[in-house]
Formats: sequence, structure tokens, C-alpha cells
Amino acid sequence: DALAQLLDVGKAYGNVDALRGVDLTVRPGEVTCVLGDNGAGKSTLIKIMSGLHDYTSGTMLVAGDERHFSSPRQSLASGIATVYQDLALAPLQSVWRNFFLGNELTRGPFGVLDIKKMKAICGEELTKMGIVIPDLDRPVGGLSGGQKQCIAIARAIYFGAKVIILDEPTAALGVKQSGVVLKYIQAARDAGLGVVLITHNPHHAYLVGNHFVVLKLGRVALDASKDEVSLDE
Ligand code: ADP
Ligand code: ADP
Repeated sequence: DALAQLLDVGKAYGNVDALRGVDLTVRPGEVTCVLGDNGAGKSTLIKIMSGLHDYTSGTMLVAGDERHFSSPRQSLASGIATVYQDLALAPLQSVWRNFFLGNELTRGPFGVLDIKKMKAICGEELTKMGIVIPDLDRPVGGLSGGQKQCIAIARAIYFGAKVIILDEPTAALGVKQSGVVLKYIQAARDAGLGVVLITHNPHHAYLVGNHFVVLKLGRVALDASKDEVSLDE
């Protein structure tokens, strides 16, 4: 029932092995946390799954098929949405425009919509997730980092992503905003999506994670489910 799988995946940049023999499974209704120090290979793993880099050995399966993405568009079209820490949204565009930026890429469930309809849908979807934004015409640049992450997550869910990859979503946030974002990660998980959470923060990982993969120098140093780990170790 895996949504996506890396099997013995390697990635070399010239003679630097950024990833070696990495196995990772993304299952529906689970948060797979990827932890590791700087240089461990976390960004490289994201880039492979999000279509920014191809891998150099092993196999990536998406919905059971072997895939090599050559663009972010291909990754998104096959149901993998990546939410980057800083680049989650276009800062100068309005909230509702941002919400629909993914539409052209994924060919969502509707045809051409007028602006009024798009705003209405955006408002409904955000409300459904408990995200309160009084003015959808405001540029998202003025929103908090937490709100931006939440909008990006809501958008990915609405446009039918099966897998959401989150790149250090709480790294730049305070305690309260982190809590809000972690809540939306749980909402995505409970909606049956497979979440890949890249983080430096073991506490955040432990709060929402079902599965933990620790990378060390490009290799999987630990692969454990929640019952197998405790915060004291
Ligand atoms: P992390 O995100 O965990 O910090 P990275 O995936 O960025 O790790 O890096 C993994 C390894 O690959 C590091 O040794 C890094 O220096 C190297 N690396 C990453 N990107 C490149 C690149 N474009 N060219 C050469 N080496 C790279
Ligand atoms: P891209 O994948 O688009 O090249 P990266 O973030 O991987 O973006 O890297 C940005 C730039 O920095 C690239 O030119 C890359 O080759 C270089 N780079 C990143 N990490 C390393 C590294 N550890 N060693 C050498 N070059 C690196």
C-alpha cells in the first residue's frame, strides 16, 4: 500500500555520495520523519522526490511504478506536493491566487473558474481547516510563516496530493506557530495522505511521526516506527 518508495537509492554529485543505499517508504495515513545533521542528505532526498534531481542508483517507485522525475511539474502531477520552508507561496500574490497557483500544474477537479468562485473555494477550504484569514485579497507576504505553511498544506490537500513533503516546516517558527503547523500535518495525515517531514527537531518529529528515518552521511542510520523509539534514547 506504499504511495512512494525509495529502494536502495543513491545519489552522487560528481564523486560526492550524497545518498547511498537509502530505503524509505511513504504510506497513506502516516508521517515519515527524516532526521539528520547538516550534510546527511535530507535536501538531496527531497530533491529526488520533488523532481529537482534524478537519483543515480536504485529505484524510486511512485504508486507502484518506477519513476525518474525531470521536473517539479512531473512530481506534482504524480501526486507529490513539496512545501518548502521559504518558498511555500508567492509573496506578492494574494491569498486566493496563491491557493490556485497549483491548479495549472495539477489540472484540478474543475475547469476554468472565475475569480469569485476561486475566492469562495479558497475561503471554504481554509475555513474547513480552521485557518482564519480575514482578507483573501491580501498578499501572502504579510502573513506569518505558520499561516503560509498552513495555506500551502491546505492547497496541496485540496488539489489531490497523495504525498506531502515538508522541508523543515517549523524551523523558522516560534512555539505557537509550530503547534499550528504540526496540527495541520496531523490533519493531512488523518485525511489519508502520506507525509514526509524533514526536520532537525526530534520533539516535533516525535509528536506527529509514525515512522522515523535518521540519515547519517547519506546512509540510513536508523529506521524505526514510533513503538520502537523513545525520546530518552
Ligand atoms: P542535508 O540537507 O541533510 O544538509 P544535503 O542533501 O544538502 O544534506 O547534502 C548531502 C551531501 O551532498 C553533503 O555532503 C553535501 O555537501 C553534498 N551536496 C549537496 N548538494 C550538492 C551539490 N549540488 N554538489 C555537490 N555536492 C552536494
Ligand atoms: P542545484 O541542485 O539547483 O544545483 P543546490 O542547492 O544543490 O542546487 O546547489 C546550489 C549550488 O551550490 C549548485 O551550484 C551546487 O552545485 C552547489 N553546491 C551545493 N552544495 C555543494 C557542495 N557540498 N559541494 C559543492 N557544491 C555544492
